[in-house]
Amino acid sequence: MRPARALIDLAALRHNYRLARTRHGGRALAVVKANAYGHGALRCAQTLAAEADGFAVACLEEALALRAGGIAQPILLLEGVFEVTELEQVVQHDLWLVVHHEAQLRMIETTALAARLHVWLKVNSGMNRAGFVDAAVAAAWLRLQASGKVAAITLMTHFAQADEPQLSTTLEQIERFDRAAHGLSGAHSLANSAAILGWPQAHRDWARPGILLYGADPMPGENNGLQPVMSLLSSVMAVRDIAPGEALGYGARYVATRRTRVGLVAMGYADGYPRAVPDGTPVAIDGQASRIIGRVSMDMLTVDLSALPDAGIGSQVELWGREVAINRVAAAAGTIAYELLCNVKRVSLSYLD
Ligand SMILES: *Cc1c(COP(=O)(O)O)cnc(C)c1O
Repeated sequence: MRPARALIDLAALRHNYRLARTRHGGRALAVVKANAYGHGALRCAQTLAAEADGFAVACLEEALALRAGGIAQPILLLEGVFEVTELEQVVQHDLWLVVHHEAQLRMIETTALAARLHVWLKVNSGMNRAGFVDAAVAAAWLRLQASGKVAAITLMTHFAQADEPQLSTTLEQIERFDRAAHGLSGAHSLANSAAILGWPQAHRDWARPGILLYGADPMPGENNGLQPVMSLLSSVMAVRDIAPGEALGYGARYVATRRTRVGLVAMGYADGYPRAVPDGTPVAIDGQASRIIGRVSMDMLTVDLSALPDAGIGSQVELWGREVAINRVAAAAGTIAYELLCNVKRVSLSYLD
């Protein structure tokens, strides 16, 4: 069997959830949207079910998959509903929903519902992507109350730059949220992972940890004690020596300057490993540091084994995980860990507990 695989450490997931809850205080919705950032949503939710206060997903389809798998905790739809027919399912499956724009508000006002909703009313505090702004927040809150269809309203907002601790924009967003929420009853939820770790002023009733659950630290240059959950692994399937002046791989990007022992690894961009990484991007081979040389292709990539005489066919390669921090690979690829994790595909997911 092709050895490319992603090993998911469920004990690390639990560790990270507990860390989020402790650092923030109050309750925490574990964000498992996008298949739990590539880690398998149902399996991750089941792992946290005994202790998680609830879960958050992007949409109804993701929530229904969790309910079908036996998840009974609160589940929040972070984008709310897209059409009015979904409201019936929200009630039927006892889901919570974000309301972030006028059309969603009108759907609630104009639809007869069999039970009352738990709404998370989204405040646009400066990110300008979704939510009601300033005085429109109180107006939306009053309309929800007046509809008679709402059992509880939680006020939430989302930060654009919480992972940039030197900026004041997160504090400005918090102040703008507090002004908009002033006098409105309901729990508050402000903090994503970066705000859990970096902005105590954003710690309120509910946290919404996503990336930190999966062990990728969103705060630059910090060690917050997160444990990596996914190890992207494969092995060396062939070895060859190339002479000085010989080129390696597509585009002949890497040209050997000395005799080079090249390991061929079963992992490529069709598995979600980023094609954009340059020569020198870190990998670990049987626990020792090595580097990518040559362009990543669809199903294979090449590594430098010149300094690892004991490595050869069958050697284990870690592309990211405990030895190679995913943030280093993301930086090399010009992207963020979120994107790398969500893009993992074709490889089998196996679970360790
Ligand atoms: C995805 C998402 C989160 C989680 O963000 P992280 O940066 O992964 O912690 C929190 N809140 C909302 C509204 C989201 O969409």
